[in-house]
Amino acid sequence: MKIVFLGPPGAGKGTQAARLVAKYGIVQLSTGEMLREAVNFGTDVGLQVKAVMEQSGGLVGDDIVINIVADRIKKPDCASGFILDGFPRTIPQAKALDRILSELGVELDAILELVVDEEAMMQRMHKRRKEAIEAGRSVRSDDNAETFKERMQKYRNETVPVSGYYEKRDRYKTVDGMQSIDDVTAQIDEILRTLGASTG
Ligand code: AMP
Repeated sequence: MKIVFLGPPGAGKGTQAARLVAKYGIVQLSTGEMLREAVNFGTDVGLQVKAVMEQSGGLVGDDIVINIVADRIKKPDCASGFILDGFPRTIPQAKALDRILSELGVELDAILELVVDEEAMMQRMHKRRKEAIEAGRSVRSDDNAETFKERMQKYRNETVPVSGYYEKRDRYKTVDGMQSIDDVTAQIDEILRTLGASTG
């Protein structure tokens, strides 16, 4: 099963992707995770992207991310399926993905977009922050209104057009991300079932 997972930061893509990985035995390809690893290991790519990644919502250059995905997706463990989480985030990335997949002779089973209400997400973030402070836990550095707004703004500018790129395809489906985590999972399962998404 080959899936692209779209949706704004904090919408719960990571949680749902992890469930799909466990259920279908596919590989989660999170570009954010791959880039963080590169930074931690201090690779050439890591050194190039570190500064951009430190800005809230700043996007790493298309060429770098496209190369990372192109290399990773060719690895044998992706043959039985993958879920792309956090990629594509721009139109050039979406076009490059089409090229990469067609070279591999692979088609996407589903393009899922997690749709959330921005105001409600902001409230969720405030609640999480308040609870963390009350419990004496450390507060995530990206859990503040300013950072959240910046990330959302960048998301709107750069990534919303990606939905438009996929929108007309039969395999593009929206998922209501404001439901409970389990209900979101159930809706995704149902979509994959109706699309007849292959498990191989
Ligand atoms: P994420 O974990 O998906 O929120 O990604 C963390 C950071 O990695 C983002 O804020 C970007 O700086 C960078 N990043 C991840 N995926 C991409 C992508 N597809 N294109 C550009 N930058 C990305």
